[in-house]
Amino acid sequence: MTASATRHAACSCGQLSLTITGEPARVSMCHCQECQRRTGAVTSNQARFAIAQVSVSGRASEWTRKAESGNALTFRFCPVCGSTVFWTGEGFPGFYAVAIGTFADATFPAPTISVWEECRHPWVPPPLDPATKRVPKQG
Ligand SMILES: [Zn+2]
Ligand SMILES: [Zn+2]
Repeated sequence: MTASATRHAACSCGQLSLTITGEPARVSMCHCQECQRRTGAVTSNQARFAIAQVSVSGRASEWTRKAESGNALTFRFCPVCGSTVFWTGEGFPGFYAVAIGTFADATFPAPTISVWEECRHPWVPPPLDPATKRVPKQG
């Protein structure tokens, strides 16, 4: 992928979609229980892009919760099918976090940061890159 790569992310039904140019600033895996409940999966995997890199199409519903740090996170999900596609957080102003599963692209860059490791299901392997930063909690 070049710096001018264009990627598309979308909810299950396709109503809410993103067109994104350029590479992510950070790709992370989160094992926290809040993310487990939000996704229904045992991990949340997300990439941060500067808001200027992202064009949003469709309607999004919002839900805000406070992270343990006290920072608010506002999740944006499709009001039709319920997929969470992207979110913002007071801890990362100027960026969108985008759920990397919504790209449905196995060539998407792998996470290099793994957070909330104390909540990791023991059968979930950490990211493959041995340089992955693994930390207990964050956000
Ligand atoms: Zn949808
Ligand atoms: Zn989490």
